[in-house]
This record gives sequence, structure tokens and C-alpha cells, in this order.
Amino acid sequence: MIFKLACGDVMPGCSARFENTNRAHLMNDIAQHAATHHGITTITPDITAALDNHIQTAAS
Ligand SMILES: [Zn+2]
Repeated sequence: MIFKLACGDVMPGCSARFENTNRAHLMNDIAQHAATHHGITTITPDITAALDNHIQTAAS
């Protein structure tokens, strides 16, 4: 299983895309991207929920 997220689905205008076979690692990558590119250093429950809504899965 591959987990995918397009940052632009959550942050309009951002073209970054992420995918990882490990969901927790995907979230870590997104958290780092959010901090460095969007200045979001705290991933709130609201943000987590928004990310969860946009994560897509694909068969590996
Ligand atoms: Zn982004």
C-alpha cells in the first residue's frame, strides 16, 4: 500500500506531493515540509484531520 498526499489539496497553490509506504513516515515528511515551506511548526488536530481527509492510497 502506498499513501499519497498532494500538499496543494490542503495548502492551495503548493505543488509539493508526497508518497510513502509508511503512513507515519508520510506524516513526518509533511510535517517537515509544512514547517520549512509554510511556517507551520505546530501540527494541530485540525491540520491532522485535514491531511487525513486528503491522503489517498494506492496498491503498491
Ligand atoms: Zn506545501
